[in-house]
Amino acid sequence: MNDEYHALLSPSGAAKWLACPNSIAAEDGQPDVSDKTASELGTAKHELLALCLKYSQEAKTYLGHELKFGYKVDADIANDVQIVVDGVHDRIKAYQLTGAATEMYSEQNVPISHITAEKDATGAADVIIVAQWPSDRAEICVIDAKFGYRAVEVEENPQLMLYALGALEKNWVVPEAQTAVLVIHQPAVSEEPSEWAVTVSHLKRWAKETATPAANKALLIYAMRDGRALKEEDFNPGEKQCQWCRSKAVCPARLEKVKEVVGDDFSAIADAGMLIPSDLGDIWPMLDFVEDWIKAVRGRVEYELLQGNEVPGTKLVEGRRGNRSWESDDEAEALLKSFRLKQEEMYSFKLLGPKPILELLKDQPRRAKKVESLITQKSGKPHVAHISDKRPMLEIKPVVEEFQAVEDGSDLV
Ligand code: SF4
Repeated sequence: MNDEYHALLSPSGAAKWLACPNSIAAEDGQPDVSDKTASELGTAKHELLALCLKYSQEAKTYLGHELKFGYKVDADIANDVQIVVDGVHDRIKAYQLTGAATEMYSEQNVPISHITAEKDATGAADVIIVAQWPSDRAEICVIDAKFGYRAVEVEENPQLMLYALGALEKNWVVPEAQTAVLVIHQPAVSEEPSEWAVTVSHLKRWAKETATPAANKALLIYAMRDGRALKEEDFNPGEKQCQWCRSKAVCPARLEKVKEVVGDDFSAIADAGMLIPSDLGDIWPMLDFVEDWIKAVRGRVEYELLQGNEVPGTKLVEGRRGNRSWESDDEAEALLKSFRLKQEEMYSFKLLGPKPILELLKDQPRRAKKVESLITQKSGKPHVAHISDKRPMLEIKPVVEEFQAVEDGSDLV
């Protein structure tokens, strides 16, 4: 997310160009109409992470500090980032306890052109730790922070594999590391990071057999994009590769895939009559793919209309108006006072919630502790996730069992 690329074939876009040879050429000239809210917040959190690591500070030290895109560090942002900061420090300590000397690099550009064949291409990993033992054994650890809610797989994650290969190319370790550990911290999904240990020879084989051939093909198609139409067989739609592709709203292959999913796959399920829970379970994994496409098309239609272009069957109208507000608080206050309104008719006065109060007491730990003992927090509402999600499953008794328990008297008092 926070790579500063000078590259068409970026590590964070690797899932796309590795799987779909046409993707880079298809994106050329397409506007980026994705909703930036989440990615901008993620960028701001990465900025805070880099500050914490650079100056060895806790995230809460920066409460109130303004980050990119106007975000101010608050308790939620600080908490998320602190989880990653702690993870990085814990890992360094763990290496040192085994007798390794460590070096930590944060936000460092690493070369990837030896893999992608694109001149001067680089990517910037969030954190790279190099651990070296006196026995000449060495390991590279790549840590990436993800601040989104959609769980990201660490095993065979091409973005992190490229960072690790880029770090090896830097020759930070002499002799070269034999192993690598790839780590993803995703505080919104789990406080525990997910990690994958891999040999350097596996990474190099992957680069040679998979990444470099895919990069060569994508670059070749990109170079020829003006001279010939993109071939149908070089599109390869799928959830991971299409998710961040700028052409997903207008890509014919993506549309075909959606038709296939909602046509063939869904109708095979519907053929059996009314759907039962196992049918819904079969539909569930396809929803993100279809939903992503719907959002992309909506975004693109809005973009075209805002550009003044016609999209038949649609038009721009004024949306819901914002809340009414005083043009001038001072003038409104003076006028209301002249009406001799009572204080309680003019003003609202309400106790602040725990968040701003704890911020206020951040330098008074004893008072903050007393306040904390009065705080309560509702549990999160049940939320449907993929079965591979790391959060523990909520135990919900089937309604039939609940009734059975009442009938048997086991739940009666
Ligand atoms: S939308 Fe998907 S299939 Fe189409 S070019 Fe992009 S990655 Fe390839």
